[in-house]
Amino acid sequence: MTLLKPVLLLALLFTISLTPAQDKSYATKIINRLASEVFDGRGYVNNGDIKAARYIASEFKNTGALPIGKSYLHPFKISINTFPDTVSVKVDGKNLKTAKDFMVGGGSKKTNGTYELVNIDTAELDNWEDINQYINNKVVVLPAAAEKDKRTYKLNAAGYIFTHKKNLYWRLSDAVEVKPYFYLHTYDSLINDSKVISVNVNNTFYENYRTANVMAMIEGSAKPDSFYVFTAHYDHLGRMGSEVFFPGANDNASGTAMLLDMARHYSKPMNKPEYSMIFMAFAAEECGLFGSEYAANNSPVALDKIKFLFNLDMVGSGSGGIGMVNAKVEPKADSLINAINDEKKYFSDIRSGGARCVSDHCAFARKNVPAIFIFTRGKEYMHYHTLSDSGPVPLTKWDELFNLLSDFMRLY
Ligand SMILES: [Zn+2]
Repeated sequence: MTLLKPVLLLALLFTISLTPAQDKSYATKIINRLASEVFDGRGYVNNGDIKAARYIASEFKNTGALPIGKSYLHPFKISINTFPDTVSVKVDGKNLKTAKDFMVGGGSKKTNGTYELVNIDTAELDNWEDINQYINNKVVVLPAAAEKDKRTYKLNAAGYIFTHKKNLYWRLSDAVEVKPYFYLHTYDSLINDSKVISVNVNNTFYENYRTANVMAMIEGSAKPDSFYVFTAHYDHLGRMGSEVFFPGANDNASGTAMLLDMARHYSKPMNKPEYSMIFMAFAAEECGLFGSEYAANNSPVALDKIKFLFNLDMVGSGSGGIGMVNAKVEPKADSLINAINDEKKYFSDIRSGGARCVSDHCAFARKNVPAIFIFTRGKEYMHYHTLSDSGPVPLTKWDELFNLLSDFMRLY
């Protein structure tokens, strides 16, 4: 790292530009637009995903970045369970607020009825045969940990309520099939000691839903056949019933905005990059990383031509620094990023982690593409998979992240 420093200093001295590269107001505009109700939470109700994909494609076009192939859109199909219609829950006659007091299970089947509630402790699950004698067609209430316990599903229950002490958030990873029961998540305090639940959940399941990744590129001036790839999922959780949508401002309108901000800068003739740049805005991350998996299996360029890939997912904060998943698998990139940061003091802290399949870098990393997933850390914006991820996203370290990625491309 000490050896790198003089070289770095020189390289950085010659790259000071007069106008700022990044444009925070442009990023804010993109994030606010993507998080607006126009796109229905960028899920599959009202084709929110496709509307968002078309908007992102038009923004790429405006920047001057080119499509890869005939179109900016690269379609593929997924199976997905959705909740376009009524989703309502009453406990002992009292309405629970959708997506605030409860989250419907992503794979829930259509249900309309009133059921007796039975509280069960995880320790009791070994006696599921005995329990079954008295729970037939009742709804069982269990601690959240029981959701992953196989014994839970031996119960003859009409449905399952999983309870949490705090931090209720929605996830779609279980929405690729419809389960033979309904289930939902709520707080202990709202369900314990309750007697009866009325559930009205309407789902629509699509076996072959057509969604699309959005891709664009900028040709490099010196090494056009070698690529820096920047990825970010643009999809989010969509709607939970007709009343409620998840804005996903930080997750991941922020990462999508970074791709567009970079495309805007590097498309300008005076900023042409040495290496080619590819931008991939993925669909279907929230339901199982399907967009990036499709892209890695059907890559528009040979995977061994990818010099480095950065995945950006939730990059709207930064007061606490950044986290880098897969950094330990890429020691050369990891030490370069740390050296740049030592020099420029972009972030107060960089946490380098190992391989974890938690976002869209994963499908590429598994195919030996050098890749790091960067997210920002900071208490200034902690909204995750809730209705409150609606912005304004502070973009605390937006310029710093933009500059770090730019420095990396020059120096790696
Ligand atoms: Zn997410």
